[in-house]
Amino acid sequence: MTGSGAVIIDGCYVACADEAGREFPAGHVVAQDGRIAAVGAGPADPGRWPGALRINGTGLLVTPGLVNTHHHLYQWITRGYATDATLFGWLTALYPVWARLTPELLSDAAAANLAWMALTGCTTTMDHHYVFPRGSGDLLAAEIEAARRIGLRFHATRGSMNLGKSDGGLPPDPLVESHDGILAACQDAVGRWHDPAPDAMTRIALAPCSPFSVTGELMRDCAALARELGVRLHTHLAETSDEESYCQERHGMTPVEYAESLGWLGPDVWLAHCVHLSDAAVGRIASTGTGVAHCPTSNGRLGSGTAPVRALLDAGAMVGLGVDGSASNESGRMIDELHQALLAARVLAQGPSVSARECLAMATLGGARCLGRAAELGSLETGKLADLAVWRVDHLAGAGIADPVVTLVFGAPELEYLFVGGRAVVDGGVLTTADPAALAVAAALASAVIAVG
Ligand SMILES: [Zn+2]
Repeated sequence: MTGSGAVIIDGCYVACADEAGREFPAGHVVAQDGRIAAVGAGPADPGRWPGALRINGTGLLVTPGLVNTHHHLYQWITRGYATDATLFGWLTALYPVWARLTPELLSDAAAANLAWMALTGCTTTMDHHYVFPRGSGDLLAAEIEAARRIGLRFHATRGSMNLGKSDGGLPPDPLVESHDGILAACQDAVGRWHDPAPDAMTRIALAPCSPFSVTGELMRDCAALARELGVRLHTHLAETSDEESYCQERHGMTPVEYAESLGWLGPDVWLAHCVHLSDAAVGRIASTGTGVAHCPTSNGRLGSGTAPVRALLDAGAMVGLGVDGSASNESGRMIDELHQALLAARVLAQGPSVSARECLAMATLGGARCLGRAAELGSLETGKLADLAVWRVDHLAGAGIADPVVTLVFGAPELEYLFVGGRAVVDGGVLTTADPAALAVAAALASAVIAVG
């Protein structure tokens, strides 16, 4: 299957995940020239797309491709470390390992990780890359090349750390860069790779790492540079109570107050985590149009807590879902974040909270909003890009559940097809762009190399 010819999926359950929440129990989706040519009830018009490839959609659910709003691809080769630590202890254990990262290791980590993202329903992922050991080479180029090879739509962020341990930060000094060097690298990354076109496969955003690993001056200057260059801003914020204490002690403010003081709330900003938020902070995030990348599995793995998603949605905030880096989410399955988001919200509420359809909306249109792509991604609407996830829901695990969206979020769906711009990256459950066994061998070798240096 290629992006040029039309593909018709007929007789499938279609969950558009658009503003109206349209669903068609026996509907069709047609992709042509990289875009959605038709979506609706009943079969597709048989005469309109002569020669189209037809897929029998019986037992299949079609949703928008999932959008991953927070990730660290390189961590695929450092999974299984510090499994009982909370964030600061986990980071402290991993920084010396990450200091050995090279473009070759990142290439193997990213390719394996992106393949796994594709096989778990993700058509667009961001990556927050902030580890640039001195003299390590062109790391961003390595992961962008991997994304092109695997075939996912990719929002790379040029991350950074410039607040080393000797200046009161958490990362070891050899792992931080200079303020001016970071700004020059950010400008270079945007110039080389950022594609503002609506059908872009590669975009760049600027992403200083966190309040405890970058200076306020760098946050402020990155925001100014991003706004000058017309790209988005991302960082970790309000992830743990340790971070809250750090911000109070160092700046006399909560993380959200600190971010706002640096120009870091606004419709061009999306923030990872936002676990520890006061009611006032929820209100500021919503009223400023700031996005939130909710990462329930990682937050659970590190014992950080969980974001107040119900309150954020009720306040009108834009919320997307993220797997977060694989070193704090070893399974890294994008589809699982919908289930985890649902469970975490209900545990927090000790009662009903978000619904299956709200989880699907966060993972699709919510994520597209966070990445600034809602006009062309995140829902099944004619004219939008043909980024589709097609799930089998009539298999052993799913048969008998009447509502396919319940199977998707509460159950165990299997990915049958994944289309990115109309191109089948997964076909019949099989990755078409690379050999998963070869990727696994390369990732295992890279894991062994980075473990010992
Ligand atoms: Zn992260």
